[in-house]
Amino acid sequence: MTQDLPGSEPATLFVVATPIGNLGDISTRALEVLATVAVVAAEDTRHTRALLSRFGISAVLVSLHDHNERRQVPALITRLQQGQDIALVSDAGTPLISDPGYRLVSEARANGAVVKSVPGPSALTAALSVAGLPTDRFVFEGFLPPKTSSRRSRLSALALEPRTLVFFESPRRIMATLADLADSFGAGRRVAIARELTKHFETVVCGSIEQVASILLSDESQRRGELVLIVAGNDDPIASTAIDKEFLLEVLGEVLSPRSASRVAARLTGGGKNDYYRKLLARAGKDGDRSA
Ligand code: SAM
Repeated sequence: MTQDLPGSEPATLFVVATPIGNLGDISTRALEVLATVAVVAAEDTRHTRALLSRFGISAVLVSLHDHNERRQVPALITRLQQGQDIALVSDAGTPLISDPGYRLVSEARANGAVVKSVPGPSALTAALSVAGLPTDRFVFEGFLPPKTSSRRSRLSALALEPRTLVFFESPRRIMATLADLADSFGAGRRVAIARELTKHFETVVCGSIEQVASILLSDESQRRGELVLIVAGNDDPIASTAIDKEFLLEVLGEVLSPRSASRVAARLTGGGKNDYYRKLLARAGKDGDRSA
């Protein structure tokens, strides 16, 4: 499978999925590829070395993560041009899905290498497959911004989205995210939290945002480990009472004084008049800074 003869055929970059918890999920083809390529580009070489040694594979490993990808890609492209096949893996799941590798794949293609997928586990598809929410159309939103204000803006921009939404989320932030979701989407929207998939303590908690938040609040173990948050799409966006509050405030602030705009926004959304007033003043301050 490996192209040992430089120049005989374009070399191949294999994008290889690895287990997200259960080692039994590695595919026969993934093992074959990992055992025969010249180099394995890995997000964390120690982690991948441990994984490979479980399967009796010793490989040449090169580190490729978010902070060195730009620097590492040229040398990997040179290897491909010399006819060496490369496997790209991340710590778990499918590379490039909220994981490094995009630049390498893009450059490999641009430089005439063959790029092949060796598909397998991904937390994204595993979670969708067990959540019990519609999967005929979905949007993957990756990780929400950790900063509260940015997270809220992102969520309010998504409140009318009719497709099922999938987020990766950290257990530390899940309660705050559920609270923000309830604000933007309404507490009755259906969600599922798929946790520790393929591992010993795998669970899927489903229900309205309100129900799921109360289950997580009362059971600390449900806030541990790795999790995927799946949110039902808005099934009636036109009749929806969900309003992009930030946008509404911005528009009102353009035509009314901060005091009137905050009063109207509070009437329309049920939000806090004083919060809105402070936001408008802060925004006016920022704009002032910018134009100064
Ligand atoms: N590329 C990976 C994939 O395809 O699964 C995802 C990488 S992303 C950096 C890691 C996130 O995936 C975690 O923070 C969590 O949200 C989710 N995740 C990974 N493994 C998981 C598991 N076993 N159960 C639930 N979620 C998981």
